[in-house]
Amino acid sequence: MTIVQFEPRDGILDLGWGHPLPELLPAAAWATAAASALDTYGWKALTYGHAPGPAPLREWIAARTNEQSADCTFVTAGASHGLTLVAQVLAEPGDTVLVDSPTYHYAFRILTDRGLRLVPVRAEDADEVGRQARRHRAAFLYVVPTFGNPTGRSLSPGQRRALAAQDLPIVEDDPYRELYYDRSPPPFTDANVISLGSFSKTVAPGLRLGWITATPDLVARLARVGSVHSGGGVNHTTALTMAEFAASGAYGKHVALLRERYRTHRDVLSEAINADRPDGGWFLWLRLPDGVDAESLLAVAERHGTSFVPGPRFFADRRGGSDRVRLSFSLLPPAELTEAARRLKLALRSVSGQ
Ligand code: PMP
Repeated sequence: MTIVQFEPRDGILDLGWGHPLPELLPAAAWATAAASALDTYGWKALTYGHAPGPAPLREWIAARTNEQSADCTFVTAGASHGLTLVAQVLAEPGDTVLVDSPTYHYAFRILTDRGLRLVPVRAEDADEVGRQARRHRAAFLYVVPTFGNPTGRSLSPGQRRALAAQDLPIVEDDPYRELYYDRSPPPFTDANVISLGSFSKTVAPGLRLGWITATPDLVARLARVGSVHSGGGVNHTTALTMAEFAASGAYGKHVALLRERYRTHRDVLSEAINADRPDGGWFLWLRLPDGVDAESLLAVAERHGTSFVPGPRFFADRRGGSDRVRLSFSLLPPAELTEAARRLKLALRSVSGQ
């Protein structure tokens, strides 16, 4: 009986999945919020909603993300759904989109499903982005600018300004922004940036709940997309429950707990494997010793009882990343992270013949 996206594989301590530690999913607090939403809104919590999302949640999102008004916010079924909708509204099949390289690999599928052509660029290089945007008349740039997946790195304020000065819309996929372990990261502040938010990392991915912030005009266009319009929005009941979860203070408390716990995860794994520490998010982007190929290492690592995602999978053209692997420190508790790192080091030793 299959219920969840992945079941642990026997004998493998898996550093591949960007999933939350199960005990950090807030089951009891969510149950309280669900009861409270039904108490507060009664039947209105269970009927068709308002297409851009219910006002209490849109207002909370606007305040949390420093948007001028709730009219700039749109409730989605997660960042993946947000990207699907944005690709539908901002691009036509056959159009080109620029994708930062490396970047979140599942975004490639979402964009190619819409019939879009992907051109990899480096978001740190705003001039290159501008050149490629003009050359391909690109519909937009896709980038994960904060605690990126897979690199863990963030664009600086200057890099953000330089990108925003290019003449194309920027779609920033930003699900890790709240998970900072040292200091809060810089935002994009420009009108041509469309932001995809998510409750998957801060509350629970099974909710399938997130948001888009954009201009009121784009929000109105999103609300007219057929599937959104006909369903009276998406996840109305879940969205009202989230509004209660936020208003009760449970959200703030939970995010503070996540920062504490995942900071420890980050420290344990980066020390055990001698990798650079990202300032937030869930990933280490480990550089392999000279001559070790990421895809070949994977088979050996799995024989040693651990796993990861090889670097090339995060490059739209697969050209790059053979000397890198993405390690996720979110799913396993600290003691298992230490053991997974030990196994990975054994695998590395066996392939590099040391
Ligand atoms: N974007 C990025 C960069 C991610 O890392 C993830 C989660 N792996 C997602 C989107 C998916 O988010 P959601 O669950 O909100 O669709």
